[in-house]
Amino acid sequence: MVNVEKLREIVGKDWVVTTPEQMVDYMQDAVMGAVIPKPAKNVILVKPANAQEISEILKLANEEKFPVIVRGGGSGMAGGAVPNIDCVLLSMERLDKIEEVDKANLMITAQAGVSYGELTKAAEDAGMFFPPHPGDEGAYVGGVVACNAGGARAIKYGVQEFCQGC
Ligand SMILES: Cc1cc2nc3c(=O)[nH]c(=O)nc-3n(C[C@H](O)[C@H](O)[C@H](O)COP(=O)(O)OP(=O)(O)OC[C@H]3O[C@@H](n4cnc5c(N)ncnc54)[C@H](O)[C@@H]3O)c2cc1C
Repeated sequence: MVNVEKLREIVGKDWVVTTPEQMVDYMQDAVMGAVIPKPAKNVILVKPANAQEISEILKLANEEKFPVIVRGGGSGMAGGAVPNIDCVLLSMERLDKIEEVDKANLMITAQAGVSYGELTKAAEDAGMFFPPHPGDEGAYVGGVVACNAGGARAIKYGVQEFCQGC
């Protein structure tokens, strides 16, 4: 059983959702047809604001042995963001800041919840080009990295542009 009070202490009471009616949109992604996963009944939706809070949530998850599923933009087509087991669903939606646009080094530092649309706009505003195009502007940076999504442009540019340090 997840200790909801501890989660509230970490992220603030407004960012822990326990009412199923308030998380309907989080119970699906873009997967279609007969393979749509069935959402679990006991899901706690948590919306951290930063890496420190995520770290504390994962520490608690390790101590209390509850599963955590990460939720990005929900545009994945494999059901990965759908909480099909009782768990804490960790939404990245508040990590939505572009921290730095470094044109000299052709780099952008963005939090996991920045959407693909916002990221490409920031690149274009700085006169840069961001090649991967996973097909949905609402996908988040973290989700695109997690899925190594590249879209049709991957044929020309590949999909390794996200890899830090390589
Ligand atoms: C119309 C359409 C076209 C598409 N075309 C392509 C295509 O051509 N090529 C392609 O590769 N993909 C394509 N996709 C799918 C693409 O993989 C997703 O759009 C995107 O990668 C998922 O990002 P998301 O933020 O929506 O992730 P979600 O759907 O929220 O999550 C996807 C998976 O990533 C995990 N995840 C999400 N965020 C994080 C994080 N911060 N840390 C760790 N794990 C995380 C989730 O737990 C889940 O397992 C398409 C999707 C749509 C809707």
